[in-house]
Amino acid sequence: MTARLLDGAALAASIRTDMSRRAAALRALGHPPGLAVILVGSDPASSVYVKHKVKDCEEAGIRSILDRLPADTPQDALLARIDQLNADPSVHGILVQLPLPPHLDAQRVIETISPAKDVDGFHISNAGALMTGQPRFLPCTPYGVMKLLEHAGVALAGAEAVVVGRSNIVGKPQAMLLLQASATVTICHSQTRDLAAHCRRADVLVAAVGRERMITGDMIKPGAVVIDVGMNRISQGPNAGKLCGDVDFDSALEVAGAITPVPGGVGPMTRAMLLVNTIEAAERAAAAQCN
Ligand code: NDP
Repeated sequence: MTARLLDGAALAASIRTDMSRRAAALRALGHPPGLAVILVGSDPASSVYVKHKVKDCEEAGIRSILDRLPADTPQDALLARIDQLNADPSVHGILVQLPLPPHLDAQRVIETISPAKDVDGFHISNAGALMTGQPRFLPCTPYGVMKLLEHAGVALAGAEAVVVGRSNIVGKPQAMLLLQASATVTICHSQTRDLAAHCRRADVLVAAVGRERMITGDMIKPGAVVIDVGMNRISQGPNAGKLCGDVDFDSALEVAGAITPVPGGVGPMTRAMLLVNTIEAAERAAAAQCN
């Protein structure tokens, strides 16, 4: 058996087209959507992510403001800049690229973003809203995973879902969304005993760990849907330096029923869902102005 590929790149492209249409409608009504992206320092990976976000906005007709701040920006200056953007009615979404330099308190920074503009969905009030089933903004990666599962027609009610990883930005919100879709959810982490046994029970397995190809085919239930969130660099061999996931794709392909490739699976969906959150923020702001 060879697993069906879940093509995140294709689905993301159709979402981007839809967002371009909604952005055009907002512009026509005199409410051009705007996203502000703050990058502190010059971490190479963060710089690439930010460049992609700005490019995605341009292509979708969303105005983007990119603030590149020096690595030694004092916390007060960063918070003051966020306050300015909070008060700017032409800015509908604000995101601060993580990780931040160690002298900055990331949680404090996130909490300074207005929850109504928190398009990453990381603010504690948005996390709480998700937890209680009234989400305002869903974090982009788990949101993208749910869209992929929905598009692939995966039945989640009653399914055994296993999420490996419990970070605030991927694992925990992912588990919460699967629970809200009525899956029976297990969350695994670095202290989990017998990870393989948990994984082998999963009808839907989401790997969000950050460890190169750690989930192998023998850890996957035949026919399972495997979602690989991981983005790692291959450490050795002929493909050293290339991108790979947390799942050992070749062995998983033989066992799974469906699987996301890396690249081309969850990554493009994460990027697309940032546009969705930004457009939704702009549409809400426009509707509030009309009322
Ligand atoms: P974190 O490092 O914040 O979290 C990793 C999680 O994996 C932790 O909960 C950790 O457990 C768990 N873990 C670590 N080792 C093991 C192990 N041996 N067995 C089981 N669990 C383990 O990472 P993120 O959640 O931010 O990201 C995870 C991966 O997803 C990374 O590769 C990242 O690059 C990628 N990513 C991809 C995105 C995309 O768009 N495709 C977007 C965001 C992230 P513990 O809590 O106990 O330490």
